[in-house]
Amino acid sequence: MSSNTQSTPKTRLLVADDNPFILDLVQVMLNKLNHPEAVFATNGLEAVTAWKTQPFDMILMDCQMPEMDGYEATRSIRKLESETTTNHPAIIVAMTGDATQRNRVLCREVGMDLLLPKPFTISDFKILIESEPTTLRSAEK
Ligand SMILES: [Mg+2]
Repeated sequence: MSSNTQSTPKTRLLVADDNPFILDLVQVMLNKLNHPEAVFATNGLEAVTAWKTQPFDMILMDCQMPEMDGYEATRSIRKLESETTTNHPAIIVAMTGDATQRNRVLCREVGMDLLLPKPFTISDFKILIESEPTTLRSAEK
């Protein structure tokens, strides 16, 4: 087993999805990438609550969730970020099976930076969590 020995800082990661299979899959991928630490949420409300308790570099946000969907959760987090100077804005990544232009526009409008189409591979996931945030932001624009 090879492991990544680069001294890149580990991304503080929040993953929100109402599908337990997706959360399990993400955990397995994180373990394989030697990046086991993440906080998991099962709806948008939990994601917003988690954001309030600790800073994150990246948030993987499912779009369709009960209680509060990913769009509304993203709006809330962006609003909270704008009200504080302490937290660096998180990279928010839409995890969705809907990679249509219409949904991409909607995701952008609510404040998401990127879209990770489902289903995704461990390679897609690795690129995402190991890239510099600035690289990711400029890649999508
Ligand atoms: Mg969902």
